[in-house]
Order: sequence, then structure tokens, then C-alpha cells
Amino acid sequence: MPSVAAPSPGCRAADERLTLEALAAEQAPVAPPPPPASAGSLGDYRHRLSPSPYGWVRLPSWCVWVEPVADGDEASHRRDRLWLAAVQAALGHWVRSGVVVQRADDPQAAQVRVWRRRPPLRHGPDGRLRASHGRAQLRLVAARTQGRQWIEPQVEVWIAQGQGSQGLQATALHELGHAFGLWGHSDDPGDAMAAVPGAQPVLEPSERDRATLRWLQAQPSRIGEPLEERPAPAPGR
Ligand SMILES: [Zn+2]
Repeated sequence: MPSVAAPSPGCRAADERLTLEALAAEQAPVAPPPPPASAGSLGDYRHRLSPSPYGWVRLPSWCVWVEPVADGDEASHRRDRLWLAAVQAALGHWVRSGVVVQRADDPQAAQVRVWRRRPPLRHGPDGRLRASHGRAQLRLVAARTQGRQWIEPQVEVWIAQGQGSQGLQATALHELGHAFGLWGHSDDPGDAMAAVPGAQPVLEPSERDRATLRWLQAQPSRIGEPLEERPAPAPGR
């Protein structure tokens, strides 16, 4: 896997994680930024992304934990290794597209956890329970790490086995795209983040995926930033 480009503090488990509802009023969400002004012909799909109540979901560096695979020659172990190879390949493509990733050995130290299992069933638009091959789910917490409090994204990614290696890699690429902040879907089946996959599995980010990611990474956000007390007003003013 390509190495990490920027220096970063390392993956450490937070001393404490609180739901954001527990924050004081002055740390309440600000209104989300307005949707990006222009759509179409920009070569990206920024207008189809959604910010969180605390702003765009992006970090300068992500700690990622991937469910480990035991050694062995039996069929089940071979399936596990196929899964791991697909996840590693997808992760490598996002790294080469500009996401800075550190691998965490401890799931508690990670912002993104990739699980080798089928996502929980979910109700479809028709009200019936549906199974899917992959899913990503975001939760924002107020984390305290080494005395510093900050808004931390916590993402669970479920990637099911039993899809064949290309299907696995396309699923992992799409769900990891969500995990790294692309919370929305493209309308082009040639993009990794397509709402409706095309006939050919997309195995690496398209130029539009990369352009959208570059736009996202340049946006201001409170996510990843320290949660500071507001300075007291200067006396006599
Ligand atoms: Zn999706």
C-alpha cells in the first residue's frame, strides 16, 4: 500500500467519546453551509454531496482499522483473504487519490472500521427488509484525546463476502468513498460513487470522483477541529 504522505499524530484511542448532544450550547451545530453554487459541467458532483450539521466531513488524516484475517489454507480462509485483498486494493486507490490513511491495530483508535460481514438488513422504499453487499454509517462524537477535545467522525463500514473479487472491490471502493466524506451519490455509472452501478464494476475512482474529493478536502469544517472554550471578553469593554 502507498505510504502516508503527511506527518500525523498517530492512531490513538480517545480517552472519552461523548455524543454531540452532550455538548454545551455554544458548541451546538452551526447551520450547514449552503449547497455549492453551481452544478453540472464542473467535472465533479459536489452539488450531490451533503454536509453534516457540523460541516463537511473531511479529515487531514484518517485512522482506518480493517477486520483482520487469520492464516489458513481452508476454503473459508481463502475467502477471507480474497475479501482482505479487495479492501486493501480499494483503500490503496483512495490513498492514491489524495486520502491520507494510517492503519490502526486497535478498532477503538480508528475513525473508520471495516467489518467483514453483511450490513444489517434495512427497510427499502417499499417497506420490505432488504439485504445489501455493503454499507457505511457515520456518527459524530465529541472525543477527548490527550486532553484535546474535538469533533470526530466515527464510521462503520460493512462489506459482505461472496461477491467475487471485482464485486468486492467495487463495493469496498464505494463504501470507503462514503467513509472518507463523499456522503452523496453521483448520477454517472462510471463513477465509484454512482447511485446506480453500471454493468461494469468501477474498481478505481474516476476523474470526477477525484475532483469531488479534492473539492471536499478544501472545504472549511468544524469536524476534526478542536472544540475550544470561547475566550472570555476582555475586561472593561
Ligand atoms: Zn452509496
